[in-house]
Amino acid sequence: MKFEESNALFEESRNYFPGGVNSPVRAFGSVGGAPVFVKRASGSHIFDEDGNEYIDYVNSWGPSILGHGYGPVIEAVREACLDGLSFGAPTKKELVLGGLIRECIPSMEMMRMVSSGTEAVMSAIRAARGFTGRDKIVKFKGCYHGHSDGLLVKAGSGALTGSAPDSAGVPASYTEHTLLATYNGEESVKTLFQQFPQSIAAVVVEPVAANMGLVPPSQGFLEFLREITTRYGALLIFDEVITGFRMGIGGAQKYYGVIPDMTTLGKIAGGGMPMGVYGGRREIMETVSPVGKVYQAGTLSGNPIATAAGIATIKTLMERPEIYKGLEEKADRLISALKEALPDTQINQAGSLFSVFFSKTPVVDFETALTSDTKKYAAYFHYLLDHGIYTAPSQFEILFLSAAHTDEDIEKTCRIIKEAASHL
Ligand code: PMP
Repeated sequence: MKFEESNALFEESRNYFPGGVNSPVRAFGSVGGAPVFVKRASGSHIFDEDGNEYIDYVNSWGPSILGHGYGPVIEAVREACLDGLSFGAPTKKELVLGGLIRECIPSMEMMRMVSSGTEAVMSAIRAARGFTGRDKIVKFKGCYHGHSDGLLVKAGSGALTGSAPDSAGVPASYTEHTLLATYNGEESVKTLFQQFPQSIAAVVVEPVAANMGLVPPSQGFLEFLREITTRYGALLIFDEVITGFRMGIGGAQKYYGVIPDMTTLGKIAGGGMPMGVYGGRREIMETVSPVGKVYQAGTLSGNPIATAAGIATIKTLMERPEIYKGLEEKADRLISALKEALPDTQINQAGSLFSVFFSKTPVVDFETALTSDTKKYAAYFHYLLDHGIYTAPSQFEILFLSAAHTDEDIEKTCRIIKEAASHL
């Protein structure tokens, strides 16, 4: 495969954007080499500037659950564009999308739309603090909740693969109220509540951790979080930016039957357009301005193009629940191939979400995720890329399937995985 055009564009981009990119993981920093520059995408495939074609398992990091360029979504966006791109005033589309979201995730009795997952979680935490009158939050090592100052503490995703796990530019005082616990580690959470029984506003968690690779919650862990937060008068926030509308239409909370006080969404909720949503019990959300004293706003919030894409995406998912079964079947086939080809790895799965760790140790939390051989992952990644399979350029991300992946796509991917194994 030739990457001349991508390489040239990357070189030029380095003069404009730090690392040549507008979001760090895209730079291929942890796998080496230069990123491919995507020209267009269709269904399950992406095409780069050199004319190479790939089966796409990044899917914009999750939003493209129906595949790229899904007809009804594109049509909804096209129509919405003709009516105007942004008004800064309420629209009927926001109400329709809000209604669909609440129908799917009833715990989001009231919600606020924003423009990214980062904003959603940052704002949810502000609301939780405003509602409880408490300052501290508990987050888990290796969970990523966007790049707001207070949450860049042992964050996953790009913050995990970059040179500094904790960001420069964040004053220590900004993270002084962020308490760190171990994912799947009940004792660590108990200890924090014993230490700060009256000051923890919320526990924020990815119900399925998907930013240190995929780490499912151990049996009873989410139930434990529900119980302990209730006992101490703290809120439980599920960051469902990845799991929302992906672990089934009701997200991880429905999948596991554990209902949080607040939920954050992104990615699929905007059908591929910039969108985030936070919401929860009505009394909590009524602390948000202009009703309550927690200030939060956004010029492009509830944007008509993003809401149009979100509505078309969620409606399709509601009408075609078989999509989820299909995603899980495809995941199962890929996982079987991985297990056979790479017996010395760990493969974690929750629903259709999965990832492979080049580690001999079962991966149950951040520490064990870090036992992975990232050099081996890089070699595996590049073999796949060179053979037309586009996966996450980092050990600590997951694979995203879409309804558009065909039997042939999965078959070809299984074959290339097996070949890759013999080249490692
Ligand atoms: N929360 C989770 C669980 C995420 O995975 C992400 C991004 N992948 C975010 C929050 C931040 O979302 P965004 O990149 O849209 O700001």
